[in-house]
Amino acid sequence: MAHLAATLEIPELIQFLRSSLNDLPDERKPGNNTKYQVEDAVIAAFSIFFTQSESFLDHQRLMKSNKGKDNAESLFSIEKIPCDNQIRNLLDPVPATTIFMAFQEVYEWLNKNGVLKRFLYLDEEILIALDGTEYFSSKKINCSHCNCRNHRNGTTTYFHGCVTAYIGFS
Ligand SMILES: [Zn+2]
Repeated sequence: MAHLAATLEIPELIQFLRSSLNDLPDERKPGNNTKYQVEDAVIAAFSIFFTQSESFLDHQRLMKSNKGKDNAESLFSIEKIPCDNQIRNLLDPVPATTIFMAFQEVYEWLNKNGVLKRFLYLDEEILIALDGTEYFSSKKINCSHCNCRNHRNGTTTYFHGCVTAYIGFS
């Protein structure tokens, strides 16, 4: 029988995220009463990648349906699903660097458990797919870090873009 490499299940992945929030320095740490809310907000934002919703609002609608609620509880262990405004308010004070280590820890876990071996190609290299995407776009809301697109009709679209890298196999 073929040996199957271990797989990282969603609940374990969530644990990496939750534990990186515990590593916040004391002055950035949410108080006891907001700790679980902040964790739930991180997980709720993270869960969007698993539903393939077209937009955050679409995702929110899905999460509020019975099926969505079941998933939130069983798959992501979210106790109370926060709405998009709550997610923004809870996560704005948390620097993005807080969860950077989660990536490293997940990578090391996958490496240690032999999962990455399944992705080796050619000279034992990992093939990475890169794609550019926009994760924020608005004609009204903007900040000092926005990119902007000036349209012929005089309007401006403000946006934030990023390059995403992923490994995968079919
Ligand atoms: Zn901006």
